[in-house]
Amino acid sequence: MQNSTEVGAFLGKVQLNDGRKVDEGTIKFWGEALAKIPLEDALAALLEHQTTSTEWVTPAHILRLLKPVWEQRKRDQRIAEAKQRAIQGTPAPIEIPKCAKHPSENIASCRFCFPRKSV
Ligand SMILES: [Zn+2]
Repeated sequence: MQNSTEVGAFLGKVQLNDGRKVDEGTIKFWGEALAKIPLEDALAALLEHQTTSTEWVTPAHILRLLKPVWEQRKRDQRIAEAKQRAIQGTPAPIEIPKCAKHPSENIASCRFCFPRKSV
C-alpha cells in the first residue's frame, strides 16, 4: 500500500469487521507491514480472511493468503513469456555446459583445457 490513505481505507474494512481502534500507530504499523502489497491484493486477502476465519486479522494472515496468489502469477508470467518466445520464434536461452575442472569456463572453449598459443 502506497500511502496512509490506502492503509486507512484498508483499516476501515478491518474495523468494520472487528471494531478495533485505529489510530496513527495502527496506520503506521500496517503501512510498514504491508508496504509492498498493492491495496487491491490486501483488500482481497482481507475479505477472504474475514469470510473464512474468526481470528483477529494480522499482517501475517494477509501475507500468508497472498503467497499462493503471487506464486501463481509468477507461473502465469513464465508461461506467457514462453508463449511469446514461441510466437516470435525466439529460442529460449540455452545453458552451455561448464568445464568440469574449471566451472567458470564453457566446456568446449575452456581456456585452461584448450590454451590458445600466443602468436
Ligand atoms: Zn577446463
